[in-house]
Order: sequence, then C-alpha cells, then structure tokens
Amino acid sequence: MLELLKSLKPYKWAIAATLTLIALQSLAQLYLPNLMSNIVDIGIMNNDIAYILKMGGFMLMVGGLAAACGIIAGYFSSRTSAHFAMRLRSRMFSRIESFALHEFDTVGTSSLITRTTNDVTQVQQLVNMMLRIMVRAPMMCIGGVIMAVAKDPKLSLVVLVAMPFLTGTIILISRKTMPLFRAIQQKIDKLNQVIREQLAGVRVVRAFNRNSYEERRFDAANRDLTSTAVRVQRIMAVMGPSTSLMMNGTIVAIIWAGGWRIESGGIQIGDLMAFIQYVTHIMFSLSHASMLFTMLPRAAVSADRINQVLRLEPSIRDATTTSMPQQHQRGYLEFRNVTFSYPGAEKPALENVSFRTGPGEVTAILGGTGSGKSTLVNLIPRFYDVDSGSILVDGVDIRNMRQEDLRARIGLVPQKALLFTGTIADNIRYGKEDATDEEMIQAAQTAQIADFIESLKEGYQTMVSQGGVNFSGGQKQRLAIARALVRKPEIYIFDDSFSALDLKTDARLRAALRKETKDSTVIVVAQRIGTVIDADRIIVLDAGKVAGIGTHRELLATCQVYREIAASQLSEEELAS
Ligand code: ADP
Ligand code: MG
Repeated sequence: MLELLKSLKPYKWAIAATLTLIALQSLAQLYLPNLMSNIVDIGIMNNDIAYILKMGGFMLMVGGLAAACGIIAGYFSSRTSAHFAMRLRSRMFSRIESFALHEFDTVGTSSLITRTTNDVTQVQQLVNMMLRIMVRAPMMCIGGVIMAVAKDPKLSLVVLVAMPFLTGTIILISRKTMPLFRAIQQKIDKLNQVIREQLAGVRVVRAFNRNSYEERRFDAANRDLTSTAVRVQRIMAVMGPSTSLMMNGTIVAIIWAGGWRIESGGIQIGDLMAFIQYVTHIMFSLSHASMLFTMLPRAAVSADRINQVLRLEPSIRDATTTSMPQQHQRGYLEFRNVTFSYPGAEKPALENVSFRTGPGEVTAILGGTGSGKSTLVNLIPRFYDVDSGSILVDGVDIRNMRQEDLRARIGLVPQKALLFTGTIADNIRYGKEDATDEEMIQAAQTAQIADFIESLKEGYQTMVSQGGVNFSGGQKQRLAIARALVRKPEIYIFDDSFSALDLKTDARLRAALRKETKDSTVIVVAQRIGTVIDADRIIVLDAGKVAGIGTHRELLATCQVYREIAASQLSEEELAS
C-alpha cells in the first residue's frame, strides 16, 4: 500500500494545494460557530441590528470562502487521483507486456484485466478520499475539541464519555470487513473468468446447447459474489445508523446538560449553540475517518494485488550483456540437446532435441497432436526458456540476444491465426509497420489471399472485427501468413498454418512460398505428409522425443513412427515411389 502511495510523488504540488485549501476550509468552518454565537449573545441580546447585519455579512464571507476552498480542493483531489490511476494502469500494462507466457499462465489473463481496471479504481477512490479527509478530519476533530473546551470545559465531559463508544464501533467494523473485501476481489476475478470463457467460446456453447449450463455457472459465480457483498454491506449498514444514533444521543445529552449550565449561568445560549456545532464537527470528522478506515482494507487488498503484478519479475528478460550475431550469418538455427518442461508438468514436453538448419532449407516437424511440435517452435522466439541445452540463432545463444533483435529475425505464423481490430492493411502491416503498398500486396499475393481481398468492396481497407470473426478460418490463416511474409524475416515458422486450407489452395500457397522463401530458413509444422514430403529435413516427434530426422526417403527406410504415419496417409504407389 505505502509503496503504491509513493508513486503519488509527481503530484506533490497538486496535493500540497489540495491540502492547504482543505486546511483553510476547515479553519473557516471552525470559525463560523463563533461568529454565530456572537450574533446571538451580543446582537440579539442587545437588539443591536447594525451589529447583527455586520456580523451576518462577515459570516457570509467566511462561509463563501470555505465553500470556494472546498470546491477547488475537490477538483484538485479528483484530478490528482484520476491521473494517479492512469499512470498506475500504464505502469501495470507495460509490466504485463514484459511478461513471458509463463506469467500469464500463473496469474491468469482475466485476473490481470481485473487488476488493471477494478483494483486500480479501488486505490484511486482511496487516494481521492484520503486527500479530502486526511487533513480535514484531524483538524475538525482537534479544532472542535479545543473550541468546545474553550466554550465550556464541564460540558465537554459529556463528549469525553461518548468518544470511546464511537471509536470502538469503528475499529470493530473495519476488523470484520477486511477479510470479506479480500474475498470480494477474488470473486470478481472468478466472475470475469467465467464471462470471458463464455464469450470467447460462444459458438461452442451454442453448438452444444450448453447455454443453460453456462448460465448456471455464471449464476453461481454471480451469487457467490453477491452474497459476500451483501454480508459486507450488512455490516456497513449497521455502522451508519449506530454511529448516527450515538451522535444524536450525544447531542441530546449536551442539550439536556446545557440547559442546567445556562440556568446556573455557566454558558450563554449562543455559546451552547456553537458548542453543539463543534461537537457535531467532531463526530462527523470521526465518521468520515471511519469511512476512510472501511475503504482502507479494501484498497489495501487491491494494492496488494496490483503490487503482485508490478513486482512479478518476467521470467524471461534480456541478459545484461547482449551480443549481436555477426552480419554474414543469416538464418542459421541450431537446437543443441534442448530439453523443456512446462511449469508443473511431470514429463518434459521436449527431450534432447538437436538439429541445425540454415538459409534455403526447409525443416518440417511432424508428429501426432500433443507430441510437442508447437512447443518446439515456440522456443525459437523465446516465448519460454529451455531447461537445458541451448538454441542458437545465427551462432548466438538466444538467451544472450536482445529479445527484440531475436524476434525481428523471425516471422511466426501461430497455430491459431489471430487478427486484430482494424483494417486488413493494418493487420498485414502488423508484421512490418512501414511496409509499402507494393510489399503488402505482394505478401497478400504469395499468401493466396490477394484475390479475395480485392473482391471485397473496400479491399485492403475492409475492417476486421474483434478477433477476426468476419473471416473464415482459412482466410484468417492466409492473412496471418501475409503478416509474416511482409516482414521478410530470416526465419519463417509456420505452425500448422495450412491446416484450414483446401488441398488446392494449400498446393498453390506452398509453390508461391517456395519462391518467396528460397533464401530464408523455413520451419514448417505439419500433420499432412503431403505438406512435408519435399522438405530438406523432417523431424519426427513422438511424445516430446525425436523419433527420427532425415528426408522422406531416409525416414521411410529407417523410422518406424514415420512409416506408420506415412502408411496411414499415402497410397501404396506413393509410398513406393
Ligand atoms: P502439438 O503442437 O504437437 O500438438 P504441443 O506442443 O502444443 O503439441 O503440446 C505438447 C505437450 O505440452 C502437450 O502434452 C500439452 O498438454 C503440453 N502443453 C502445451 N502447452 C502448454 C502450456 N501452456 N502449459 C502446460 N502444458 C502445455
Ligand atoms: Mg500444435
């Protein structure tokens, strides 16, 4: 919590201004009852209209000053807290951007979203509240006590009796609500997760008629959150009336005791009225402080969750001394005894994988689902770090390269084609921001998507909706390929990128790609043997282990796993040829 508040430093002048204004406002408000008691005890007692008018005018001025200070201070405090929240969100966002995939897996995507939005808002509200109350409550409380005692020390004893009850209630309630607030934030996470999953999977939900199941799941999460929120509100609801009961009780006691004091000449009517106002100030300041105290635990929980994100060290970061590959090396890739397991997994997803490839070569990776093909290619852009062994790009261990330099050399087409909201042109230029129109069109042509784009009414300016839902799976894949092509990288990685294409388009695309990528290194993950048959090297993966490396012919002769896959996909003649 304190750590987060330290980042309020850039706003120190705005904060100083706010606090000064609030101090002024409080002073003015402490002064007002005094003026009023003078009007009553001097003006009205002596029937002195001139005095009443003069003091009344003065009161108006002081009241106006207090109001003006309050308004300006409110503006400053809202502004400061909003800007503070903005900076906090952008700090979190850039932190999250630096995370490796591992961190996304551990914290959870929906939790990251809740933390950057809802949790930041909690802290923002606290900051706003603190700025308003931090100076005001103690001033009004202490000032009120001093003024009240000055008016009538004996009457002040009544307040002394009431105080412990009030503070006791406040402490009790904050203790009770703290754990509940922590639970609330977690339940909001859970709810967001259910919503996210459902919205992302809306087609599957509909297709399997799982609407009512999903509704129940949502309902459960929603109810769970509500019941905790209701419990908190119930506690808070007790607090409001019970504090105001204590306040009003105190005032009744004062009026009662004050009557005696007036009779015995200990205090005048105007002073008693002022006294009551001071006591009201004292009690309101306590109740404001208690509001702050009930917000504090909730914001503290949020601050914790925010700090967790800010403190989480990306598991993958640039080495302190990075080296650049030499210029004449281009597109060389080598795996040396690479072993890798996902965190928490029992068995390594990849074991002892070694191979090397260079420009002009096509390396195919073949294997059943779950054999580790995607895992292998995801290690090349360093989405995850290897457990042992090493991966070299252009002769340099990728852990010793800047991630940016490494990734600039790679054009990756992921297994699941993902488009961003924007135009088609924006999506292709995602691969290379400053690509010319010619470059972009050429990439689209190679990816066999240019004809389709030109057939659209708005061509390259056609909007892609969120997640690219207005395109078919094959169209998305080809756009993702165009995005990688426009980059003209040293190393192309196609992770099962032709799976949604029909055989004819697949063949045309591969012919065009061969020309386009003839000087680059190409890694192709595939299920179909037809896609890999003419590769320079085929790596057969089986449960994370290399079952064989070689050309189609070599593998047919030596690798049992490959022969089985081939037999299941090719005809007798094709096998024999
Ligand atoms: P393929 O692409 O060959 O179908 P993958 O490389 O995606 O297979 O997966 C290989 C293995 O690693 C599978 O057993 C899968 O369950 C596991 N795996 C893949 N991604 C993750 C992940 N993010 N966290 C944990 N395990 C994973
Ligand atoms: Mg895969």
